[in-house]
Amino acid sequence: MKFWFITGSQFLYGEETLRQVEADSKEIVAGLKLPFTVEYKLTAKTEGEIEKIVKEANYDDECAGIITFCHTFSPSKMWINGLALLQKPWLHFHTQYNEAIPDKEIDMDYMNLHQSAHGDREHGFIGARLRIQRAVVAGYWKDPDVQRQIADWQRAAVGVMFSKSLKIMRFGDNMREVAVTEGDKVEVQLKLGWQVNTWGVGDLVKEMNAVTDGEIDALMAEYAELYTFEEKDIETIRYQAREEIAIEKMLVREGAKAFSNTFQDLHGMKQLPGLAAQHLMQKGYGFGAEGDWKTAGLTALIKAMYPDGCASFMEDYTYDYTNGLILGAHMLEVCPSIAADKPRIEVHHLGIGDREPPARVVFEGRAGKAKALSMIDIGGRLRLIAQDVECVKPISPMPNLPVARTMWRPAPNFLDGLKCWIIAGGAHHTVLSYDITTDTLRDFARIMGIELVEITDRTEPYTLERDLKLGDIIYG
Ligand code: MN
Repeated sequence: MKFWFITGSQFLYGEETLRQVEADSKEIVAGLKLPFTVEYKLTAKTEGEIEKIVKEANYDDECAGIITFCHTFSPSKMWINGLALLQKPWLHFHTQYNEAIPDKEIDMDYMNLHQSAHGDREHGFIGARLRIQRAVVAGYWKDPDVQRQIADWQRAAVGVMFSKSLKIMRFGDNMREVAVTEGDKVEVQLKLGWQVNTWGVGDLVKEMNAVTDGEIDALMAEYAELYTFEEKDIETIRYQAREEIAIEKMLVREGAKAFSNTFQDLHGMKQLPGLAAQHLMQKGYGFGAEGDWKTAGLTALIKAMYPDGCASFMEDYTYDYTNGLILGAHMLEVCPSIAADKPRIEVHHLGIGDREPPARVVFEGRAGKAKALSMIDIGGRLRLIAQDVECVKPISPMPNLPVARTMWRPAPNFLDGLKCWIIAGGAHHTVLSYDITTDTLRDFARIMGIELVEITDRTEPYTLERDLKLGDIIYG
């Protein structure tokens, strides 16, 4: 993925100024240390150039967004027709080539060349006037915090590109009678681009039966590098490997990057996929249990934004009111990318699902700041809820709990945090991400045109209620 840098200018100041604008722009681009490449494209001087470059950006699958900056004044009427066609994320970078004013040397030529204070206001106006959603970053281009804001936007824009082609494979329907994991798949495809479709569990079983011992041996070697396990469990683990290989083959065949399954539909399968789902998540696939395709998609999205990051499908399970902590876990499927230490594979009876005891990866989640994310269908539209959480090392061992687990304290404090989450309608299923930033979330929601509800240190329950009503007006 690449980003295109377009500098705004005009012919008014002469050829020499335009040459300098181009040289300075290239230097700015070269000086940006970002997770994704930025390419200087052109210094725009005419309506035709702008329309042409926007059309090219729209149709280039590798272009994840455009960054604009007006080194000089660049009259905005010439931007209207081009920007009206823009279908890629846009960041208006309000910067300036020089950090300080050279008081001794400054003259009118200098003023005409370095006038983004002036030109970017014209550019800002047309963005506001056209009501095109764009991110605005203001500050000196060498400032690390300014570059961090651009990096955060890049992550969001790359997430948008990923989202628009995301396919989610469902094995079985949503868990019977559950409401929060339901949703309007047509609306989700329209808003986020997600293609959510179903495949028969019988087809998966057929695929599982075709997996060879050689394929299982190779995956077992991979498991042995990542996890510890005991000899006595090998046959059970090999069955999970068979499931993983079959699921991944179907995902690859369909170009899907996320999947859901349900313990209520396992016909022909001896174990609920535990280790299989966990290792697929660790490899970057999204997963949602109990047919929760929304959380599956969200997990895949976060993993696409942070390929080396820590993120997992998660469930708020039980509370410790005495210490003000939530215990997060699932019946099996927590991603080992959030493990504090080398995880181990264990085999235990599972009370739900009526199948053989499944192998699963067990570990404690790492401590640190994170966000719990939930996407719900609030009726005709989507709401993305993000709560700041502080993950802590579980305060004491839980020797009888046979699943991966983590504990966290939600913002603004334990009880108000719970209250806010319930008021907002957040699900019990979430994505726990240690990487995603507030800026990236806001950029993503702005580009996608969906409501983002943030629960942070500054959130107060009653104000939140009012914000949700405001959201009904804005997005309803
Ligand atoms: Mn669940």
